[in-house]
Amino acid sequence: MNPSPRCSALIVGAGIVGCCTAYRLAQQGVGDVVIIDKADAASGPTGRSSGIIRQFYTDPTLVQMARQGLHEYAASLKTFGHDAGFVRTGWLLTVDARSEPIARKGLDVQRPLGVPSRWLSVDEMRALVPEIAVGDLVGGIYEDDSGYGDPPGAATAFLSAARELGVSYHPHTAVARFVRRGDRIAGVETANGTIVEAELIFNCAGSWVPQLLAPLGYATPVSTSRHQIVTLRERPRPKRPIVSDPVNLVYIRPEGNDLTLIGSNDPADSLDHVDVERCPEYAEDAKIETMVTNASRRLPQLEHAGIAHDWSGVYDVSTDGFPILGKLPGLDGIVIATGLSGHGFKLAPAIAEILSSYLSATVDPRAHLFRWTRFEEGEPIRSTTTSSLTTMAAAGTQ
Ligand SMILES: Cc1cc2nc3c(=O)[nH]c(=O)nc-3n(C[C@H](O)[C@H](O)[C@H](O)COP(=O)(O)OP(=O)(O)OC[C@H]3O[C@@H](n4cnc5c(N)ncnc54)[C@H](O)[C@@H]3O)c2cc1C
Repeated sequence: MNPSPRCSALIVGAGIVGCCTAYRLAQQGVGDVVIIDKADAASGPTGRSSGIIRQFYTDPTLVQMARQGLHEYAASLKTFGHDAGFVRTGWLLTVDARSEPIARKGLDVQRPLGVPSRWLSVDEMRALVPEIAVGDLVGGIYEDDSGYGDPPGAATAFLSAARELGVSYHPHTAVARFVRRGDRIAGVETANGTIVEAELIFNCAGSWVPQLLAPLGYATPVSTSRHQIVTLRERPRPKRPIVSDPVNLVYIRPEGNDLTLIGSNDPADSLDHVDVERCPEYAEDAKIETMVTNASRRLPQLEHAGIAHDWSGVYDVSTDGFPILGKLPGLDGIVIATGLSGHGFKLAPAIAEILSSYLSATVDPRAHLFRWTRFEEGEPIRSTTTSSLTTMAAAGTQ
């Protein structure tokens, strides 16, 4: 069924950001919200995500946004009756001598913001994860309440809650183009020629945002790259935290009770450019071997575990590695969310709050940090993340 020809808010893309935005708008009392997707909810990168929610950044806004995500996912069942699948495992960051100063800086930013994180000596790390190899480390950072969610389950949970509040959802409805009237986007034309007009359009198409904006004359500073995942038949010891290991360019997390998931944190992955429509579904054998070898340096028992599954997904990587949110310069009627650069799951509930504020009396002040124009203004976001620690490890520099 086609969406009705007019609405208050039209959300393009039912990934985690679009679904959280739909819920947030409905919750703040915006009537007449429509969400469309060219395929199904969470059929894009959201459905391939590792779903890790940790709170390590050196920018306080990002720490708070990750923390908001953690709280909203963890409380979803209680808040609106649908489970986002959050599993609290704790999160352990490995720190070597090169990365210690910057890691401790992150700790100093986190703690006043209420993150229950602390520095662990190598002995304390071994007490937490007896099988961990620590010979090359000076210690670690441990976030007690972090964990991982179920990204497609979370998207469906927020979408279901939004629909219960009256949001209208249309899968298999692709935007073919935006309808422009002067300096304003008035609506969209779908692939079957239907025009839908809206007071405000939320372009939450993630990796597809650049190609949707190109016909409007906008060159989005975002590239798309392939990220590969493997799961092993290794049963994680109960309470084993997620281990983020920038030293070995991997992260390792429990996948339920019976499997262990390894993802690559190699900065070179962001140079593995891929067309979002043509990203292979699987991981390459050579990449799997590298990830397993690297992860085994930290957790040696992984070396002989059998492979269960492997897959690839797409990151939408912006020039500074952080989201681009909010208004486009010189164009009204549309706000965007793209360039989530591998942070999108944990930040989505906060991003939804920022985006939905464009239909309220006051725009969320956090929008300023993520503005499109920050690049030409020479003010990129400069926050350390686990991937910047990884870059240091890869370059062998401080
Ligand atoms: C392998 C992998 C691991 C990750 N791990 C983590 C992690 O551990 N923690 C974390 O925080 N983040 C992680 N991320 C990042 C996070 O998952 C993404 O940033 C997030 O899911 C993106 O959500 P989204 O809603 O912006 O976009 P998407 O999931 O890309 O959704 C966009 C939607 O728009 C739709 N669409 C596109 N074009 C059109 C059109 N023309 N008309 C209508 N609909 C359209 C698509 O079908 C799609 O469903 C990971 C990502 C990947 C790929």
